[in-house]
Amino acid sequence: MEIHEVSPGVIAFIRPEGGANVGLIRTTEGSVVIDTTSRESDIRAFLAAVGVSPSEVCLVCITHSHNDHTKGIPLFDCPVLAHKLTHQRIAKRKSTISGRQLLPTQVFENRRDIEISDMRLEFIHAGGHTPGSSVIWLPEVKVLFAGDLIFEGRYPFLATANVPDLMKVLKWLLTLGAQVIVPGHGLLCGEDMVAGQLDYIETSWGRTADHIAQGHSIEEIIDDHEYPVYPGLGAERLHTWNIKVMHRQLKKMSS
Ligand SMILES: [Zn+2]
Repeated sequence: MEIHEVSPGVIAFIRPEGGANVGLIRTTEGSVVIDTTSRESDIRAFLAAVGVSPSEVCLVCITHSHNDHTKGIPLFDCPVLAHKLTHQRIAKRKSTISGRQLLPTQVFENRRDIEISDMRLEFIHAGGHTPGSSVIWLPEVKVLFAGDLIFEGRYPFLATANVPDLMKVLKWLLTLGAQVIVPGHGLLCGEDMVAGQLDYIETSWGRTADHIAQGHSIEEIIDDHEYPVYPGLGAERLHTWNIKVMHRQLKKMSS
């Protein structure tokens, strides 16, 4: 795990070894945590590494419902905020850890603007990766916590995505003017990573649509080696999976 202070008081815990990244914003009223990893012990250790105890955290923001971002929730007694669709997804799983629920305690719909001491956070619903996926945007310092809307250096995980929505969201992210992007997985990045991921998805989506128009089977489509190569090449097994996801969504849209 690497600790990067991407702007004064704004910390990104980056995990080249794997696992979801975490954010921490220090304010005079306490710290804000963004996502909680897949284990309480991990998030506890990350906070300890920067001298913050769980009781000093005044707000937890959850970018989306996947387990690797939510399982540390029981560590915290403060408000835990997420989009209402994220809350619904987590509630459906009915999972508990040591008898404690993993649920967010507060929800929002389109966006929630948060002012804590001198820090302004905009928690904005986006969708795309999951129905409730949301980003945390710090407009004053132009830092974006993108959650799993961005996977740096590897193929994106699209199994739960709505691909047309995701393409729209990535275009919107490019309009924010972010100087630093903390992706859900992988290293800190900039807008070029957003553009690269968008290009991979758009090109793959168009190519899959062409195959369908020509009556090709899914086996023939997967056999096509002319699909774009995603920068970084990590998690290459996801590429075939992503083509199957796009194929399924395109077929559904045309039926
Ligand atoms: Zn995810």
